[in-house]
Amino acid sequence: MATVYLSLGSNLDDRLTNLKNCVESLKEVLFHTVESYVIETEPQYFIDQPFFLNQVIKGETTLTPEELLSFTQNIEKNMGRSKGVSYGPRIIDIDIISYDNVMMETPHLTIPHPLFFERIFVLKPLKDVEPCWICPKTGHSIDFFLEKLKHNI
Ligand code: AMP
Repeated sequence: MATVYLSLGSNLDDRLTNLKNCVESLKEVLFHTVESYVIETEPQYFIDQPFFLNQVIKGETTLTPEELLSFTQNIEKNMGRSKGVSYGPRIIDIDIISYDNVMMETPHLTIPHPLFFERIFVLKPLKDVEPCWICPKTGHSIDFFLEKLKHNI
């Protein structure tokens, strides 16, 4: 079984229910799950849109990284997410932050997630579920990335 960390976000309709429904769907393939607190964050990148609710979920899975991506993309589709503005409003967004110590880069899937380190909305809930998490690619801790962000603001 592989240990994975997924980041969830929603900023449309009933955001909390969207997160809960998403977590329930993920439990079909994620075992021994640990859910972070839910954090409200202001939109990044494309700022003219409602605030997000974000959460990180840890779990164990027998799926390969590609199978996991296709499972999460199906959840996004089934929950009614439509292709809109990049980084724009969404019912649900699911990102694979890390998958064991796997490092991979294909046209469809980069692990660890290529932008996680610049996202407070990932780092804070990730710290809640796994305070000692270390990025398999850089060897840096969550606190390292949070500290770095503080200096960039
Ligand atoms: P987004 O707009 O955040 O949902 O981005 C989705 C796109 O990012 C999809 O086309 C995925 O194939 C791609 N992608 C690359 N790496 C990842 C990852 N680690 N987790 C989720 N999606 C990824």
